[in-house]
Amino acid sequence: MLNLNLEELQQHPTPFYAYDLNLLRQTLQAAKQEAGKYNFYVHYALKANANEPVLDEMRRHGFGADCVSGNEIKAAIVNGFAPEQVVFAGVGKSDDEINYALDQDIFCFNCESGHELEVLNELAGKKGKIARIALRINPNVNANTHKYITTGLEENKFGINAWELEQVLAQLQQLEHINLIGIHFHIGSQITDLSVFRNLCTRVNEFQEWFASRNVSLQHINVGGGLGVDYYHPEQQPVPDFEAYFGLFDQFLEVRPGQEVHFELGRALVAQCGTLISKVLYIKNGQNTNFAILDAGMTELIRPALYQSYHKIENLSSGRGEVRYDVVGPICESSDCFGKAVLLPETKRGDLIAIRTAGAYGEVMSSAYNLRDKAKAIYMP
Ligand SMILES: *Cc1c(COP(=O)(O)O)cnc(C)c1O
Repeated sequence: MLNLNLEELQQHPTPFYAYDLNLLRQTLQAAKQEAGKYNFYVHYALKANANEPVLDEMRRHGFGADCVSGNEIKAAIVNGFAPEQVVFAGVGKSDDEINYALDQDIFCFNCESGHELEVLNELAGKKGKIARIALRINPNVNANTHKYITTGLEENKFGINAWELEQVLAQLQQLEHINLIGIHFHIGSQITDLSVFRNLCTRVNEFQEWFASRNVSLQHINVGGGLGVDYYHPEQQPVPDFEAYFGLFDQFLEVRPGQEVHFELGRALVAQCGTLISKVLYIKNGQNTNFAILDAGMTELIRPALYQSYHKIENLSSGRGEVRYDVVGPICESSDCFGKAVLLPETKRGDLIAIRTAGAYGEVMSSAYNLRDKAKAIYMP
């Protein structure tokens, strides 16, 4: 259960992010326990939320770090993750980022194209190093999620397509500074239909056959992240169903002797513990609707504007009456809207508004557009 104490919240200037570290720990404990049943290894995807207290909890719970930029690798290492717990994915790794990762001797580069392999080989060669890599394969599995967070279809920019694999394998024979240790998949985010992951397992098993038939041994199978959370009922299910999620992979993934299975979870670990707290500035009566105008906007939380995503909105100050409001921010964009026709208690200037399930892809995506100040974060122990 999320812990939001009104008196405590009222002491801080709005808007701000409030993180419930207790709920975070409960979530991590559950994930750790369920993954541990099968010796699955979990890397936390830093891009969901890279705040230090969050990274600290991840490290304490024994998770590795899944990074998509040089600065994320730096953040992981500065916050105590061991380099051998760090994986580096991303479709456009720069030379500087690759060099930095090579210097740190990270565990594995998840490589997304033949061209990237060539560049990595050259840069590793200059340092006299051998880079461990996993091939990120695009399995052409539909994640049944918003198209902007779908990554595993052949039309997407991510990964190596099945028809390119033969050529990439031939290319790898020539690359002396690269050591293939596994295969990697990540098909999208906010996946709530678990049958999608079952389809992924089927595809992974087929790719395993393909590699085995070519006598290529793979020590590591990385199935990525993507497990969704319940944005509609954050109270009912504050901790995602990790038992069903990891159990499904145990049931359907054909793991070969000696292989390690890796996961990269972001959203499922941190979404529910974060709330964006904002104050109502004005109520404005429109032609067909009333507007509740907040002091937080798309600069603090861009997900509704970017992916049309739903966040539950609550008025923490008032409990009386029922009125529909378009809940909007102060930014000069019509897409700066957190929700349309949201049923709230009668709302007035100064009321505190909670925008729930904002711990993942919230604060990290904030911007200074309109020269806005960055919202602060507070942590409830
Ligand atoms: C973003 C990302 C993840 C995490 O996705 P979630 O949906 O937050 O679990 C995992 N792996 C890669 C490669 C990613 O880009």
